[in-house]
Amino acid sequence: MNHQTSEKLHQEALEHIVGGVNSPSRSYKAVGGGSPVYMDRAEGPYFYDVDGNKYIDYLAAYGPIITGHAHPHITKTIQEQAAKGVLYGAPTSLENKFAKMLKEAIPSLEKVRFNNSGTEAVMTTIRVARAYTGRDKIIKFAGCYHGHFDAVLVEAGSGPSTLGTPDSAGVPQTTANDVITVPFNDLAGLKEALEKWKDQVAAVLVEPIVGNFGIVTPHDGFLQGVNDLAHAAGALVIYDEVISAFRFTYGSAQQVYGVEPDMTAMGKIIGGGLPIGAYGGRKDIMEQVAPLGPAYQAGTMSGNPLSMAAGIACLEVLQEEGVYDRLEKLGAQLEAGILEKAAKHQIDITINRLRGALTVFFGTEEVTNYAESEATDGEAFAKFFQLMLHEGINLAPSKYEAWFLTTEHTEKDIDDTIAAVDRAFEQMR
Ligand code: PMP
Repeated sequence: MNHQTSEKLHQEALEHIVGGVNSPSRSYKAVGGGSPVYMDRAEGPYFYDVDGNKYIDYLAAYGPIITGHAHPHITKTIQEQAAKGVLYGAPTSLENKFAKMLKEAIPSLEKVRFNNSGTEAVMTTIRVARAYTGRDKIIKFAGCYHGHFDAVLVEAGSGPSTLGTPDSAGVPQTTANDVITVPFNDLAGLKEALEKWKDQVAAVLVEPIVGNFGIVTPHDGFLQGVNDLAHAAGALVIYDEVISAFRFTYGSAQQVYGVEPDMTAMGKIIGGGLPIGAYGGRKDIMEQVAPLGPAYQAGTMSGNPLSMAAGIACLEVLQEEGVYDRLEKLGAQLEAGILEKAAKHQIDITINRLRGALTVFFGTEEVTNYAESEATDGEAFAKFFQLMLHEGINLAPSKYEAWFLTTEHTEKDIDDTIAAVDRAFEQMR
């Protein structure tokens, strides 16, 4: 497979764009380097790069593209809205319609607000929680990614009851002092942190189904335990459902596990591929937000008609009968196929999967938290990634990411992928 044009474009990009990419996760640094593949177009479950190569895509743009690329209903809706204007700075009925759809699907959203990215959504939930509780500290879980604002770019201290350290240059220590990090799936760690910082914790922020150190599901009772412990300490619970909203069911992790947080942040899928974020939750908490309350949040692009129209169109597709059953069926087929090839070639892997999202971890038996994910074999993954790319299978270039299925993948795509895995594992032996 020839990547000459991609390589040329990447050399050019390196001169003009810092690191050659507009988001670091797109670089191939974690998988042995080299030029990322430059895309020409995408349709359904397929990518076509600038050198004329075709790929089966499991990146799905890091999650949003659950209905496949250029889905006809979403594309038509965007075109029709674009012809009527893309931005007004004044309200539209689309915002009401979309807010009602989200509330019906996720009943804990008594009130919502739209903005433009997952980062913005999570960032605002923290501000609102601080405004509501009058407290400053936040507890989050190690390895979960919540965007690129200061408070969530903080690493774990040396134990659940220690304060964090900045994870990025430019994040002030004073900000890190308000963030405590505990291991995912560890209620004892959370309890210890809450006991120590009790009256100071505004919120416990959690990805209810982790997507950012691979797909990792909560242990039985974990989410209920988070609610019980946080509420007993007078802290709010915030779910970061930027990945999980509408990924696993028509609704969110709250519908999958039957536990409701006080506030929820969303993004990705709800924009149908256009930039979006949204947050919402209990009415009395959300009423802290301006213009009703003292917590400020605004945005020139927030609730823009193009993103609203695309998001509504995407949810309309997801409302169709059998969508999530199909994702489950394809996911199970893919998981079983990869496991069978791993056994055949004696490659040591484990797969975490929920419906149409999975992560293949190398060199391990179980991943339930970040430390276990970190300990998996990154070199084996890097080799696998490069072999799969040359087989025409597009994965995310990091051992910490998921494979995302779309409604447009076919059984044959999955079979072709399994055949590619067979050849890749053969070479990895
Ligand atoms: N939260 C989670 C769980 C995410 O996965 C991401 C993005 N990968 C974000 C927040 C940030 O979203 P965005 O990139 O849209 O700012």
